[in-house]
Amino acid sequence: MKGISRSEELYRRAQALIPGGVNSPVRAFRSVNRPPLFIAGADGAYLRDADGKRYIDYVCSWGPLILGHNHREIARAVAEAVPRGLSYGAATEAELVMAELMTGMVPSLEMVRMVNSGTEAVMSALRAARGFTRRDRIIKFEGCYHGHCDAMLVKGGSGLLSGSSADSAGVPAGAVADTLVAAFNDLGSVEALFAANREAVAAVIVEPLAANMGVVPPEPGFLEGLRERCSREGALLIFDEVITGFRLAPGGAQEFYGVRPDLSTFGKIIGGGLPVGAYGGRREIMETVAPLGPVYQAGTLSGNPLAMAAGIAQLSYLKGHPEVYDHINRMGDALFGGLREILERTAAPCRVNSTGSLGCLFFTGNEVRDFSSAKKADTSRYAAYFDRLLRQGIYQAPAQFEALFVSAAHGEAEIARTLEAAEAFFKDFPGNPGEGKGAYG
Ligand SMILES: *Cc1c(COP(=O)(O)O)cnc(C)c1O
Repeated sequence: MKGISRSEELYRRAQALIPGGVNSPVRAFRSVNRPPLFIAGADGAYLRDADGKRYIDYVCSWGPLILGHNHREIARAVAEAVPRGLSYGAATEAELVMAELMTGMVPSLEMVRMVNSGTEAVMSALRAARGFTRRDRIIKFEGCYHGHCDAMLVKGGSGLLSGSSADSAGVPAGAVADTLVAAFNDLGSVEALFAANREAVAAVIVEPLAANMGVVPPEPGFLEGLRERCSREGALLIFDEVITGFRLAPGGAQEFYGVRPDLSTFGKIIGGGLPVGAYGGRREIMETVAPLGPVYQAGTLSGNPLAMAAGIAQLSYLKGHPEVYDHINRMGDALFGGLREILERTAAPCRVNSTGSLGCLFFTGNEVRDFSSAKKADTSRYAAYFDRLLRQGIYQAPAQFEALFVSAAHGEAEIARTLEAAEAFFKDFPGNPGEGKGAYG
């Protein structure tokens, strides 16, 4: 076809065969009002699209690529595993090595079970929590994402104490009847739910640093308060570390914040780019999982040899190279600190939230500390910002309420180029129309 890009041509063909042309909704670029890129390759901090255009990549596959794309040691480990066979459906030494690495690095992990995605990890951890406590209810937080299993597809809205209703069609009311929704950074909302559901709450599940409503760090005392309330109420505390695990620190958010959950879920980084998830925690809880106990959970491809090879290579590298954390945190501070300075210089009514290599630019002048404050962001203005930077070869999350990820492959040159493009945008269009401060054209 003439006159359209290869990405657009592929998108047209894909739409006929794949819902929305994509295998995960955010990839369709709908919230930035433009057709999606189709990616043909990647290396280090860069993506290459189907038209051969290069981009600095701040999505990094939504987190797995903490060492950048196509890291040599991970690529080699996978290539070496291929000739040994792709799957056996039987136990392997690699799974043991993975379990040793994970339990050695993450403070609260005494036992761990491998699965194939973050969604599966959460679904399984919730089942183990319910089986162990013999209680049914789960408290989650508005704006926290835990994958697409039925029980977690609830944000709850404002009626914190009323019944929950699902965000998705196809989720029966019964599947979310035991899901209670609290407000992030608000211990009072958790206490109210505990008070109204005495001895019925199996677990509180939380992203210890929320990274799916943009980035919203926990306020001092919030995670400690959850720990204390859960222990007092006989409920389990589950940290969903699918993003934060092995990123905020080698031992994840639980090491970074010094709070010990009962169960944790992982994904993304532990697969190095291959489909992997895991859940684990206290031994007595994990001993309820089949075949040891009555909580059934299984997986044909769980602990897959290629996935384990990638995961072991990535976690071993992180364990052996603590300077990776210094680097990504320094680059994160340079990027997000630089953005804050630009906002100040241009008096743009925006906020940057960040912790280390995770951060987010919100198009709102208000402080963002939970879902309701995050939602005030002007998404059409984010779309304009996204588009402008994309045209300059900088690929950020194609949606306002997502994190930016900095990897070990991002250096000062990439950060400087990004800040330059951001500054030009804000010089041209300093205000947010939604907030009545200047015009955006
Ligand atoms: C991505 C994510 C999930 C879901 O993981 P998938 O591998 O996409 O199923 C769960 N929890 C959090 C915090 C995530 O960011």
